[in-house]
Order: sequence, then structure tokens, then C-alpha cells
Amino acid sequence: MKSLAVTRPGDLRETDPDKKCIIEILDVDEPQVCGPTEVKIKIAYCAICASDPHVAMNCFNREVPYGMGHEISGIIVDMGPEVKTKGLKIGDRVAGNFLRPCGWCYHCQNGHPEFCKHFIDEGTAPGYAQYVVWDESQVWKIPDDITLRTACMLEPTSIAVRAVDKCNVMVGNRVAVQGGGPIGQLTLQVLKMRGATSLTIIEPIEKRRELAKKSGADYAIDPFNSDVVEESMKITGGLGFDVVVEVTGNSKCTEVPLQIVAEGGTILYLGMYNSEYEMPLNIQDVLYTRNVTITGTKVAPYCFPRALQMLKRMQLEDFTGAVFPLDNAVEAFEEYFKMNNLKVIICCNEDIADL
Ligand SMILES: [Zn+2]
Ligand SMILES: [Zn+2]
Repeated sequence: MKSLAVTRPGDLRETDPDKKCIIEILDVDEPQVCGPTEVKIKIAYCAICASDPHVAMNCFNREVPYGMGHEISGIIVDMGPEVKTKGLKIGDRVAGNFLRPCGWCYHCQNGHPEFCKHFIDEGTAPGYAQYVVWDESQVWKIPDDITLRTACMLEPTSIAVRAVDKCNVMVGNRVAVQGGGPIGQLTLQVLKMRGATSLTIIEPIEKRRELAKKSGADYAIDPFNSDVVEESMKITGGLGFDVVVEVTGNSKCTEVPLQIVAEGGTILYLGMYNSEYEMPLNIQDVLYTRNVTITGTKVAPYCFPRALQMLKRMQLEDFTGAVFPLDNAVEAFEEYFKMNNLKVIICCNEDIADL
């Protein structure tokens, strides 16, 4: 089968051809169901994630060549004899969680599978491929009225659900989201449904500000052409936001939330940041005087069943417009970096694209 692989890790945006990351379509063995609870999925779509460029840099130290991609949807084509728990059948349209924590270690048993040190098949079942084999525990049947093209947004939606779980938001809280990329937009939509008010998007790209307003933001701030702190104080009557979610992942933006958060408020850092960067923090001011809670997220434990419930209520049309066939995956990544689209998705099997 065809599978996109990193054959030379590096920066996907590097201009020097001798240093640039090389990704290419390889012909690899089709994965088969071996274990009794395994499910083989024919992949319809896999969406490009902001974490993929980090994976292309080989941040997880994998052996070359290795695959990428985790935001998938598809149909079940084979399964082991013990796949019984969720009533899954061959032909079912599904999406799911690429991570499979062991279930038995201290962290898994202590309510935090995101810290599992024994993830099973981690990274070895890539989504930019024609087929993948996952365990039943990772697979969820999608509702009849959700297309496979929309369903590849289940995993990013689970991240938004987790973000809202972690940011202590209460009904009526004033909330700002800094960064209007896909995860920022999804988080904003879930926050709106959770009762956020004075909901504000802070984002330099006009198209993304407009999209946020279309899906529920009450205010939009362009950080390149206005003073974010001043605008935030105007919006919140001088109080600041009860919750600020930072989703840019840009080290240059990390201190803004400290300036616009309310006393007693919460800041959630939701992006992936440069591992070398260290943010200065005035502990006396931020933590003692203003009693701000600072927190983060890592993947989305226990969020898939709820993300599935939310999928129908999300506005996802603008997320799935740019589609490339698997053969053109390299071009898809080039398009991704142009930032013309909120999301770029890859169709891995054209014959099931319209299911
Ligand atoms: Zn992702
Ligand atoms: Zn574990």
C-alpha cells in the first residue's frame, strides 16, 4: 500500500535542498489484523496537524523511514474475533484516537493515561497511508449524518474538549483565545457552547478573525494593528479575562496572557512551544498578588466520547475545504505552509471519499 514517510528528518520549510526534510510516498506492506481486538481501517482522510512538522524534525527519535499522520477517518474492513465492546462492524464509518495507553501502569491507573510510559504502537501506525490497524479501544463509530471528510476532525475536536476541561471556565466567564488556527477555532467553538462571554479572538489573519466571529466570537483583536492589552481592558471593563487560552505556540506571544488575565483567572497554554524557550514570570505579581492559575494540556485523555457528541454541533465546513490525494501529499504540505487554508486534508482512498 501507499504510505507517506519521512525518509530524511528535518525542517519541512527549509529552502536549502541539501538540508530540507524529505517526505515521500513509499510502497509498504499493508498492515493486517493480528491481535483478537484489532480493527483494520481503510483510511478515507487524514488531516495535516500543526504537530506534523515537529514529527518531521524527528522530535520523537524514530528510526527512518517513519510515517506520520493521526487525524483520520475511514471504514472498517477487517477485525479480530474479540472486537465486541462497542458493537463495531465491518463497513462501519469510524474515526478515533491514535494513542493507545497501556491501561495498567501507575499513570494509566491513576487517571492520567497521557503520562503512560508504555504506549502501544506509538507512532508506528501512520495515518497518511491507505490502511491502518488500531485496537478496538481507539476506534469510534461516527454518527450517520457526519461525513468521513468531517469526521477526520474528531481528533482535533478532542483536543478542544480537553482544553475546555482544563481551563476552569464557568458559565458567564469572560474568555479570550489567542491564536485563530484550527485548534484555536475549535476551542473557541466549544468555549462558546460552554457559556463563555465577551469571547474574544486575538489573531493577525483577517480571514481567521472573521471565521471566529462567524462561529461565535463576540470580539476580534488584530494584534498587529492594535494594542492587545488596551483592547482587552476595554472589552472586559478593565477587569481582564477570567480565562485566556494561548494557542499560537509562538514564544513571542506567551507573555500577553499574563497581561490580560483577570485577578483569580486561569491561563491555559495549549500550543507546542520551542523547547529551548523559558518565559520570565513575576511570581509575586502573577501568582501571589493576582492569584492566577497557569496550566497546560497534553493530548486528550477521556475526551473522545464527548468529542463525538460535540462533532454534530461544531461548525466544520471551513476546516475541510482543501483536499489533496495521497499521491500529492508533498504538495499538500507545501499548501499547508502557505496558510491559505485553516486546514489541509489528504484523501487516502478516493473510492470511499464521499461516504
Ligand atoms: Zn493533531
Ligand atoms: Zn500506561
